[in-house]
Amino acid sequence: MARRPLVAGNWKMNGLTASVGELERIIAGARSLAQSATKVDVVVCPPATLIAGFAKAASGTAVTIGGQDCHPLASGAHTGDVAAEMLRDAGARAVIVGHSERRRDHGETDALIRAKALAARRAGLMAIVCIGETRDERDGGQTRHVVAGQLDGSLPETDPDAAANIVVAYEPVWAIGSGLTPMPGDIGEVHDFIRARLCVRFGETGHDVRILYGGSVKPANAKALLAVENVDGALVGGASLDAAEFLAIAGIYR
Ligand code: PEP
Repeated sequence: MARRPLVAGNWKMNGLTASVGELERIIAGARSLAQSATKVDVVVCPPATLIAGFAKAASGTAVTIGGQDCHPLASGAHTGDVAAEMLRDAGARAVIVGHSERRRDHGETDALIRAKALAARRAGLMAIVCIGETRDERDGGQTRHVVAGQLDGSLPETDPDAAANIVVAYEPVWAIGSGLTPMPGDIGEVHDFIRARLCVRFGETGHDVRILYGGSVKPANAKALLAVENVDGALVGGASLDAAEFLAIAGIYR
């Protein structure tokens, strides 16, 4: 099965209701991309406050709306948290789990991220599971070790059916928001490693799981980064806040 590329925008803690204009520009661009030969899935993950409104605006278009996090449980006494079922009810069809900013700011562990990915599956959401090493870990030659540990600990289980709603995002922590990226060859090495590990875990189905690269993807470097084998798309932070930049990245697949 050929893997369909996916470009997802992570708006982080940015955006107000007025930002729907930016989403509308993304929707218009994605409409024309949808007519090109290579199809690319386009996902926008705004803050939780905007999900319902954005999902309404994106309904019936080529853009899917996603959340940036979810709680493992479906409901309960967890002030401030949002369940995967609530995201789905608001119109989301995807959710990012395990972003390094949540691992850092909220002490999220691999076990918790696995529980969130399972919650996403339970609610019928695609889970974009983020993994990636810090600068110190890369400099210390620990990249494979760290990535393997996060993959094994954060992905739901070995059941190949579980792989169907999972996307892995390899995001070196030091590349996020820094303007720095690994060399394409280094990204390829890690993505090949992740692919092999997914195939050990899920068997042949491991070939179907999309592996995104994330970390300072911009229109200027997207072509080189997205051409790397086993890079099936991008998770885009800063550049996804600007419709023209985000569409220029997704448009690489045109
Ligand atoms: C991200 O937050 O997932 C990300 C990749 O950010 P940026 O593109 O800004 O580096």
